[in-house]
Amino acid sequence: MVVEKTKTVLVIGGGMSGITAAVETAEVGYNVILIEKEATLGGRVSQLNKYFPKLCPPNCGLEINFRRIKSNPRIRIYTLTEVEKVSGSEGDFDVAIKVNPRYVNENCTACKACEEACTTERPNDFNFGMDKTKAAYLPQDFAFPMRYVIDRDYCSEEDCGKCIEACKYGAIDIHMKPQAISLKVGAIIWATGWNPYDAARLDALGFGKYKNVITNMMMERLAAPNGPTNGKILRPSDGKEVSNVAFVQCAGSRDENHLAYCSYVCCLASIKQSSYVREQYPDAISTIYYIDIRTPGRYERLYLKAKQDEKIRFIKGKVADIEEDAATGDLTVAAEDVATGKKIYEEADLVVLAAGMVPSTQQWKIPTDVSYDTDGFIVFTPRGMHAVGCAAKPADVYSSVQGSTASSLKAIQSLVRR
Ligand SMILES: Cc1cc2nc3c(=O)[nH]c(=O)nc-3n(C[C@H](O)[C@H](O)[C@H](O)COP(=O)(O)OP(=O)(O)OC[C@H]3O[C@@H](n4cnc5c(N)ncnc54)[C@H](O)[C@@H]3O)c2cc1C
Ligand code: SF4
Ligand code: SF4
Repeated sequence: MVVEKTKTVLVIGGGMSGITAAVETAEVGYNVILIEKEATLGGRVSQLNKYFPKLCPPNCGLEINFRRIKSNPRIRIYTLTEVEKVSGSEGDFDVAIKVNPRYVNENCTACKACEEACTTERPNDFNFGMDKTKAAYLPQDFAFPMRYVIDRDYCSEEDCGKCIEACKYGAIDIHMKPQAISLKVGAIIWATGWNPYDAARLDALGFGKYKNVITNMMMERLAAPNGPTNGKILRPSDGKEVSNVAFVQCAGSRDENHLAYCSYVCCLASIKQSSYVREQYPDAISTIYYIDIRTPGRYERLYLKAKQDEKIRFIKGKVADIEEDAATGDLTVAAEDVATGKKIYEEADLVVLAAGMVPSTQQWKIPTDVSYDTDGFIVFTPRGMHAVGCAAKPADVYSSVQGSTASSLKAIQSLVRR
């Protein structure tokens, strides 16, 4: 690939937003460098079981984009990579990046031999710690690039020796070092996305204390065929099938003590997840406890459809407390039912907290002059830089993709303006 000084756009973040910005820009004929901090592209969408509005598996959208990336020599990808420094101005930015070692090179065929030989395990962060992987692991079934990683925090050199022996392709190099690279680019798109709100901070709701209280993203992984239970929604405490699932809306969101804003997608996510329960357990009841249901625009149809389902109940009332019966792992949800004005106590065998979205820039600050709102979303970028998707606001995939396509045009303008 020929990198022309001012004809390259740098995209940071390899979720739906960053991938979209990258392919749209490259397909117009400009070079793109796409940087992702994790070992695979895909972002949070790759962790979903299905995504609305069409309820297709994430691979529908991601695979098409991965094919577009593979077939376009103008896109260069760096995974396990962080931005360390940004200087310069529109059309002429200097960016210092650090590529962290994967310990596995391009020869990897994802044959699995190292994983089978490895004897050390690590918590599987892709599944929110609900299962484990070996220290030599594939980040997820549909990883892009389809290449193994070795987690050196969890393996001793002796264990690594086993995987090196097992690899017929000479793909493992446990002596790989971080690499510093300097880039010259004309425009920058920040697509650094979001993280789930830390539900353990919601004291009264029992997350981290009771095993059968999980978050909405954990529910996505439980329902996903490549998740920790191979797609069967089972209670974490005892692996039992579920019959009575409670969804707690605004878990952290719209609360001055946690996240002051509405996270935009979590009403829809719970409605979607109640359909997962419905599909797997036709007799099970889902109860959605809400303050207001927010299903903007055409998404209202999903809400209306759920309301017609006799197995899905909507109770207007904020959940105040969750208690566990230690003997059975069953839970009691205490809420105020706004319709009757009475406090209600209802049983559930699994509780799903609709935890909100936190911009990843709340923890990691972009190393240049960017302004954030009080919640950490990017609100202002210098000329030649753009913020897209959930780096800028809580958003669904559709509007993230729309915004990213628009930012691609803005970035191209920065390249041609000079
Ligand atoms: C429970 C739940 C269910 C949902 N279900 C749906 C659904 O069904 N339909 C729908 O439309 N939306 C859904 N969403 C919303 C959807 O997840 C987001 O719209 C989508 O993830 C936005 O994509 P993004 O690329 O902006 O961010 P992300 O998916 O977060 O991607 C950001 C990427 O940037 C990387 N990154 C972060 N920081 C850095 C850094 N410093 N350097 C390099 N890389 C970095 C991350 O590793 C990640 O790969 C759901 C959200 C929740 C909470
Ligand atoms: S690193 Fe080697 S053994 Fe492991 S999956 Fe890749 S090719 Fe196979
Ligand atoms: S989308 Fe629904 S659950 Fe999420 S914060 Fe907004 S109102 Fe609460």
